[in-house]
Formats: sequence, C-alpha cells, structure tokens
Amino acid sequence: MKPKIYLSSPHMGDTEQAYVKEAFDSNWVAPLGANVTNFEVALENYLGNNTYVAALSSGTAALHLALILVGVQWGDEVLCQSMTFSASANPIVYQGATPIFVDSEKDTWNICPSALESAIKDRISKGKKPKAIIAVHLYGMPFNVEALRLISNKYEIPIIEDSAEALGSTYKGQKCGTFGDISVLSFNGNKIITTSGGGALVSKSEAIKQKAVFLATQARDEAPHYQHSEIGYNYRLSNICAGIGRGQMEVLDQRVISRRKNHHFYKQVFSNFEGITVFEEPSTDYYSNHWLSCILIDSNAAKFTPEQLREALENENIESRPLWKPMHLQPVFKDALYYGGVISETLFQDGLCLPSGSNLTHEDLERINSVIQKLA
Ligand SMILES: *Cc1c(COP(=O)(O)O)cnc(C)c1O
Repeated sequence: MKPKIYLSSPHMGDTEQAYVKEAFDSNWVAPLGANVTNFEVALENYLGNNTYVAALSSGTAALHLALILVGVQWGDEVLCQSMTFSASANPIVYQGATPIFVDSEKDTWNICPSALESAIKDRISKGKKPKAIIAVHLYGMPFNVEALRLISNKYEIPIIEDSAEALGSTYKGQKCGTFGDISVLSFNGNKIITTSGGGALVSKSEAIKQKAVFLATQARDEAPHYQHSEIGYNYRLSNICAGIGRGQMEVLDQRVISRRKNHHFYKQVFSNFEGITVFEEPSTDYYSNHWLSCILIDSNAAKFTPEQLREALENENIESRPLWKPMHLQPVFKDALYYGGVISETLFQDGLCLPSGSNLTHEDLERINSVIQKLA
C-alpha cells in the first residue's frame, strides 16, 4: 500500500524545534513564558489593524471566551452559520445559550446576509433579540464582510468572526481575523499552521485581551492567596506549543502560497471535466488561503458522484471528505431553529474536500490526478 495522503496534515518549518528547546532550556514548560508572548506579538504584527491577541489552548476555547466577552448568558440566543464545523456552535451551548442556525449564500458558502437579516427580524419580533452573530470563513473563503458589518451595525449585534480556517485570507486587502468585534483563530493539527493544538482570541482592545487572559487562567483576583470573584477557565496556550507557533509564523506566507497552488492544480485537473466546479473566490475582493480545496459535482452532468470519487481516492489510500454537514442537520441540534433554504444542504450533498496540505509532493499530486483521470 502506498503511504497515506491526508486531507491536511501538519507541516513544520526549520525553527519550531529551536523555540521548543528554548522553552526546555529556560524551564518555562508552562502556560506562560517567552514563546507565548512572542507568538502573540508575531500574530499581532501579522494581522495588523491594532489587534491584540491572546494565545489560548484551542479555537473552541477562544470561541467560548468570545461569547462570554460579548455578554452571552444562559437563555440567550446566538445566530450561527449552519454550514460550519461543530466547534463554531458548541460553545453557544457551553454558555447555556441557544444556537439559531442560518443558511449559506452560494457565492462564498458562508452565512447568507439576507437569511441572517430575516432571522434577526423574526427573533426581534418574538421578543428575543439575538446576542451575537457567529460568522465563519469556511475553507478559508472570506464571508461577505461588508454586508455582515452593515447588518451588525444596523441591529447592534456583535460579530464573532470564526477565522479558524482563514489565517492568511483577506477581504478587500484586509486580513481575516480582524473583522469581528472579537475574532478567533485555530492552530489545531489540520489548520494552515499548527501548534499541535491551540487557538487565539483577537480583539481591538487591550482590555479585552487582558480579560480573556484573566478568564483563561482561572480568573484569579490580585491577592497573595487564591481568590476568585468570577468563574475561570484553564484555556491558556502552553509555552511549548507556542514555540511551535513561533516557528510556524515564519513560514505562514509560504503555506498560503502552497495551498493556493493546490487550488490551482485542481482547477487544471478538472478543467476539461463536465459538471465539476472548483470552489473559488466570487470576485477580486476575496482572497482565500484555500485551506482546503473543494469541488461541487453536478451528478447529472458529471460521470461520477462525490461518494464515488471519495471511494476511488480511498482505495488508493488518499483521504478526502464531504463538505461539513450543516449544523441544523446534525442529530445533536435537531431541535434548533433554522432560517434559510437548502443552499447549505445542497452544498453538503454535492461537495467534496480534496487533499490540500501544503506538504503535498509532486508525486502525491500525480497519484491524486491519476485516480481522477481514471473516472473520466
Ligand atoms: C478547527 C475549527 C474550530 C475549532 O478550533 P480548535 O482549535 O480545533 O478547537 C472552530 N471553527 C472552525 C470553523 C474550525 O474549522
């Protein structure tokens, strides 16, 4: 059996181990230390726009703290893009709040501005004004930032920007991760850069960053003894993991180039296939890191279904995956309210994510290509 080709696997640069070694040498094997601080600074410099970054143990933890920091409490309602990974929605439930799911738009596959506005109007008419909007840049594709910002301002509902998949993407030249009232990054093992596990909360205010760090380190009041006036969490990033993150920041630009090259490769592979669309930016306002390259298959026009392609790849030890199953179709959220039509559902039926790692070799791409050509 040939070696497995993964959907998206970690890709280390040259300096990660040296930063991890620094942590060992200085004995800062803890959730604080120079790597944590320097990783935060590297992220702040990269994102620009006067951002303040708190490095955390996961993107999920960052989303949880973001909800707390915008004031979501037990019994509140939170709007959330349905077409996403479950980690976007789960923290709503951690807070004892209720997720209300919203359909996608065709262009970006992200939260549909008109379905979102209908949802807001309807919830307000029922006396339940939503407390926050969780919008996601799925697969690295920016959501329609301008339309979302207008809605957020009009109804005075903050946006939590889930940029877990979109570090390196931009909208109108501005980096994803800087558009939310609070924004969230992930450095999980499958993301464009990784700390093995980790995340970050991004805000425009130093006070919010400090509050995030306070909550992430067990909400300890200033006192010689352990004293607490609030419920805290253990959500800080370890100094070991942050060392990996420092090294990864040095190669982030290269990783974006490689992922975008994969996208280009799939464009060429499928250029003479009927019924296959490679997902791409709807206009030059959008610049995707193409974290994952995805296709839609029109099974009437194409010679194969998404499942047939997935199985053909799997037989050659190549991983692919259907698009994320919308949250309103998940058993765990079967009772949740949903606004919109069948766009996210149709995307789920027709789509497939293809191997997209920045470490795919020429030989890997040839193996993938030959499976696809055999189905032609
Ligand atoms: C990965 C991911 C998360 C969660 O990040 P973790 O670091 O794995 O907790 C949240 N939202 C989306 C869209 C993701 O892809």
